[in-house]
Amino acid sequence: MFDLPELVVLARQMNESLKGKTIRRGQLGDSPHKFVWYNRTHEEFEELTAGKRVGEARPKGRFIFLSLEPGYTLLLGECGGKVLLHPPGSKLPKKVHLYLHFEDDAFFTVTTQLWGAMELYEAGEEQNRDYVKGMKTTPVEPEFTFDYFSALIDSLLGEKKRSVKALLTQDQLIPGLGNAIAQDIMFRARLHPRHPITDLGTDQRRTLYDATLDTISAIIDQGGRYDEVDLYGNPGGYVRLMDKEAVKRPCPECGGEVKKIQYLGGSCYVCNTCQL
Ligand SMILES: [Zn+2]
Repeated sequence: MFDLPELVVLARQMNESLKGKTIRRGQLGDSPHKFVWYNRTHEEFEELTAGKRVGEARPKGRFIFLSLEPGYTLLLGECGGKVLLHPPGSKLPKKVHLYLHFEDDAFFTVTTQLWGAMELYEAGEEQNRDYVKGMKTTPVEPEFTFDYFSALIDSLLGEKKRSVKALLTQDQLIPGLGNAIAQDIMFRARLHPRHPITDLGTDQRRTLYDATLDTISAIIDQGGRYDEVDLYGNPGGYVRLMDKEAVKRPCPECGGEVKKIQYLGGSCYVCNTCQL
């Protein structure tokens, strides 16, 4: 599953390499895939994309918004898998869920692993889509300040008991963070996934805020996580601190044992000495 840092990397690369290209032919999936959310028929998609020019790609939360000019926005998101640019003359992957063939004979494909959105909107209409409309501030935007983060925690204190992991990964409170990235944020912040947010003092909030931004920028700087590939098919360089491999090694901080626990619909990897 792509999280916000991978989408930031992909969007940057799309702006480097796709922007300005003209679409000769756009097609939706060549194999039916009940988990791919299309909002156009094959015919509509082909008709509406033909001759459009690729504009700016913008990442937000779990989505990329790709402008197809004039007048349309292609929304890609909530997916894992491969988003690839193929140079002219390349062989197409066998299974693709979206395909744009450009005038220069390069082509762009999206193939998702499980599910995903591949929707074409009249520009502006995408802002009314579920999970886009009302999306909270994401951690790569300048508005995501410490004051914003702290006020977000304050706004949650009156409700049901919420843990640090729930703050990071549930209800899209911080859009674009998934379980895998949350593990490293919590380790950097020295907080246990079950730690209740009600007793986070200012220093712990600051540490958690810094850990969130540091983790995201480390992943972006290294071109994504090592088990995802970028627009050119190259794997990222970011190796997670806390994942299934971490239980085989000592804790990088204290040398103690890293334990795997199941919590809130996903595996967590925790050092009980370092993370309280
Ligand atoms: Zn430790």
